[in-house]
Amino acid sequence: MKKIIFIFTGIVLYAKSYLVVIENPVPEGIPVITSLKDFSFSIFSYEELNQLKDKINYQIIDEYSPDNIYYLAKQRFADKKPEGALILFKKNGEYILKGAPYNLDTKSFFVKKLSSEKRLKKNPEKTKNGLNFINPTIQEIVSKVENDSVLNFVITLQNFVTRNSYTQGCTDAANWAKNYMENHGLDSVYLHSYQSNYAPNVVGIKWGQTDSCYIITAHLDATIGNPWWPEDTAPGADDNGSGSSAVLEAVRVMEGYNFHYTVKYILFTGEEQGLVGSGAWCNQHSSDPILGDINLDMIGYVNFYPESLDLVSDNPSEWLMDSFVVYTQNYIPQLKTRTMVNPNFWYSDHSSFWDIGKSAILGIEDVGVPNPYYHSKGDTVGAGFNSIDFCSDVIRASVATLSGLARPLVSIKEKPVLVERKILYKKGMIYFSEPENGFVYRVTGEKIFEFKKCRIIDLKPFKKGIYFIKLKNKSCRVLLF
Ligand SMILES: [Zn+2]
Repeated sequence: MKKIIFIFTGIVLYAKSYLVVIENPVPEGIPVITSLKDFSFSIFSYEELNQLKDKINYQIIDEYSPDNIYYLAKQRFADKKPEGALILFKKNGEYILKGAPYNLDTKSFFVKKLSSEKRLKKNPEKTKNGLNFINPTIQEIVSKVENDSVLNFVITLQNFVTRNSYTQGCTDAANWAKNYMENHGLDSVYLHSYQSNYAPNVVGIKWGQTDSCYIITAHLDATIGNPWWPEDTAPGADDNGSGSSAVLEAVRVMEGYNFHYTVKYILFTGEEQGLVGSGAWCNQHSSDPILGDINLDMIGYVNFYPESLDLVSDNPSEWLMDSFVVYTQNYIPQLKTRTMVNPNFWYSDHSSFWDIGKSAILGIEDVGVPNPYYHSKGDTVGAGFNSIDFCSDVIRASVATLSGLARPLVSIKEKPVLVERKILYKKGMIYFSEPENGFVYRVTGEKIFEFKKCRIIDLKPFKKGIYFIKLKNKSCRVLLF
């Protein structure tokens, strides 16, 4: 009898796991959830901790269960404490909180919801780029950025009244942005819903000659301080109508060009609730060949002339930040940049890419966030957003970097050759580079259906097996499994 009880408790003990903080540097081969400058966080079982105890310096901060939610919070002002939240860990103004911090005023705290997935840190891939000469195609793309167009995006977004992620206003803004992308030459645009109460992320894709991709991102959602409630006003012109307008303007000016690398344009939601939308997307795409992300968050407020653009990277992403600086010097020499490598600057969507081991940088008007209208009803055009010139120059720099890194193929204007029609098959979906007419056959030769002027075919509802897609002068075979 005694023996049985002993075995039983033994099993319970081994099944337990713990949230731990580990002192940096974490030795290679040990997976973590996220890393800051001095420490990292991870989840380990009792057994794993026993094996690791001589390799890492760690501290258990909670018994972990998949139902637990943890937030990383950073105080902006020394006198503010995270009222009403359960503090598991605190160091240098940085906290780990347990449970959603509903009482936290995000004017005083930056927040990030911790992922429940730990990953091995790997060194991100870098690409070579021709930085030493001015490419006329990039110059042409950059010259298409227009102040009026940018301002129009910011005003349109502000006019949704609220873009708090829990509101219809944010969903409406996402649908509007999706529509805009669909009408500007992308190969695929979709809404990424990750949690039922949040408005979806918007993802636009322009396929290149390879799946390896560069991404430009910004968060579409806004808050006036308490994002966990469906705030009925949240104009977010600077934060982050400005960055969202950069993504949309990039879509507009890059239309009609083809690139060697695939380019993705993403507007995230749930950023103000702790990078929830980007965290969800990145977790689902952690094995994608993502070469780099340029994330823009607050690029429309100037407190000092001439304003310089602050750029932030972690150590592995420094090459991407250096590229941004060189493209800026070459194509937008009037814009000055200020760079900093700081893995503790985790409070925007770029850090969700850091967590999955991808290169990512943030562009922001000022890392100290001096905008007095930050997370308030005053974040409107004319107040929180006060410089269309600065905002547009930052967009020019971002577009130069994005299109340069993606390596433009000869512009359509210069060489009016017909771009080869392409068929891409991915995870049960077929994408065509232009609208196609055709038929889908089973391997047995039986016709399943006909399609007309179609860009995307969803084969997922069909049984596993081989299918033939027949287009005019072209066909392909796909294996559905
Ligand atoms: Zn923001």
